[in-house]
Amino acid sequence: MAEKKKFQAIKGTRDLLPPETELWNSVEQTAREVFGTFGFGEIRPPIFEPTELFARAVGGETDIVSKEMYSFEDHGSKGLTALRSLLLTPPRSITDQQSMWLYECFLLDFLSQLDLAMQNQTISKSPENLRAQQDLSTLAGELSQTRLRYSETNSGTDSEMFNKRMRKVSIFVLLINMGDELALRPEATASVCRAYIEHGMHALPQPVKLYYMGPMFRRERPQKGRYRQFYQIGAEVLEMVPPNQDPAKNIGKDAAVDAEVIEMVMAFFARLGLEGVKLEINSIGDRDCRPKYVELLRAELLKVKDKLGPDSQRRIETNPLRVLDSKLENEQGIIAGLPKIADHLCANCAGQYAEVKRQLNMRGVAYAENWRLVRGLDYYMRTTFEITALGLGSQNAVCGGGRYDGLVELLGGPPTKGIGFAIGEDRLILSLQEAGKGGAAQGRDVFVAWMGEKAQATAIAAAQKLRAAGFRVELPPVGQKFGKALGQADKLGARYALILGDDEVATGQWTVKTLADGSQTKMSEAEFLEMLRKGL
Ligand code: ATP
Ligand code: MG
Repeated sequence: MAEKKKFQAIKGTRDLLPPETELWNSVEQTAREVFGTFGFGEIRPPIFEPTELFARAVGGETDIVSKEMYSFEDHGSKGLTALRSLLLTPPRSITDQQSMWLYECFLLDFLSQLDLAMQNQTISKSPENLRAQQDLSTLAGELSQTRLRYSETNSGTDSEMFNKRMRKVSIFVLLINMGDELALRPEATASVCRAYIEHGMHALPQPVKLYYMGPMFRRERPQKGRYRQFYQIGAEVLEMVPPNQDPAKNIGKDAAVDAEVIEMVMAFFARLGLEGVKLEINSIGDRDCRPKYVELLRAELLKVKDKLGPDSQRRIETNPLRVLDSKLENEQGIIAGLPKIADHLCANCAGQYAEVKRQLNMRGVAYAENWRLVRGLDYYMRTTFEITALGLGSQNAVCGGGRYDGLVELLGGPPTKGIGFAIGEDRLILSLQEAGKGGAAQGRDVFVAWMGEKAQATAIAAAQKLRAAGFRVELPPVGQKFGKALGQADKLGARYALILGDDEVATGQWTVKTLADGSQTKMSEAEFLEMLRKGL
């Protein structure tokens, strides 16, 4: 007998099930409502995009791009991939005819599969691909001639020639583009910016305000509040900078936009009743002042290098700002003595930061300043913020955001300002559940207990009417003894059982049982609907 394979959700992913999904739905519904009141519209970008988009936007040096992305080559030819790796790493040198012949077989097999894939369009017939294919065929012929000559001469020159051509094969193989490099999105800001450019949204009334929600993918170590497929709810405000306008100007306007975006997240969290919400803000400067501060920081860090752990030591070179992020106990004292960015902001950045704080005060949004707050992604500048909530252990950040003027331009669009945030929905839900705000079991408003053929017709009609009026109805597929039916109604958490037997059908008077107290009354269909509507 064939062994039964047990399929399980992949590590770091999970099924969200009822009744928990009720809470997910209501959180998402609340987001739509709150964001809608601020004039945001929903965007639904695709789940996968060119790897290059994320690499460029998020930054090649970040963990997300260097090790956490799920990327793949977009074609359907597994056999070709295997043969390609073989041809890309040829043996260093071969001198026996048997191995030479084997190598040729691999190459010919590769060529015939490539031809097939190009014919049925799995692999593009681009001019580059066609040329490489042609060159490889020529090389295959030359290889075979060389091997034949070698079998007669046994001369070192011929075997060397064979090996030389073998290495040439690997170069031509490399030139074949088998498919685009795609990646499952690790975040959505890059996609939103790509869409802004692709659809010419700079021509719409500015700023363009968009929100999104959906799964993101990062190959991280799974733990509480950290998954490989997780969900974000985020929003972005994008605004093209008119030609000839210095993007550094309009500081007051930018600050008001930043403050309103933050106000919106806080309003959303307040509506949900999220507990222990703490907002921290910082300014991380811009292209003018940040590099100078980073150099200063690096110089100071080098002085205390020996006292730092290996991660921080490495970051002195790669990304000194991230040292400020360190949670290591023994590094805290050292970090406290480092120069603070607030003291090194240029006039524009300092002015904008002060204005953001004033704007937050005007809006009644409470915040704390945290000069050590830096963000993991490369594209942020000036305003950055993070929000934490209760009940999440060490993964307590539920939202991260900041300003990213220049990202759209980096991706090939016009000069554009941007500010946005991403909420970790899994953590948001976790925090709500910890505070006892979990979704109630789905329950039913009405369980229709019926018996007999005539009653079934009445039961079906009743269920149709009740459902059309928006009530949750359970209609058993087969008739049941009333005792059993009531037991089931109880288990499903139904509020009422509608009992339909011959009597009820004949008189048009339905028996309605209230499950909470066991009381039972007779009433007409209209009266029953009226009672449900009043929520009695
Ligand atoms: P963290 O410091 O927790 O790794 P991050 O800086 O990588 O967060 P962002 O890329 O800014 O996070 O994403 C915004 C939010 O998305 C985070 O504040 C968090 O709530 C959530 N988030 C990020 N990665 C994960 C994950 N692997 N699983 C669940 N939620 C996540
Ligand atoms: Mg992270």
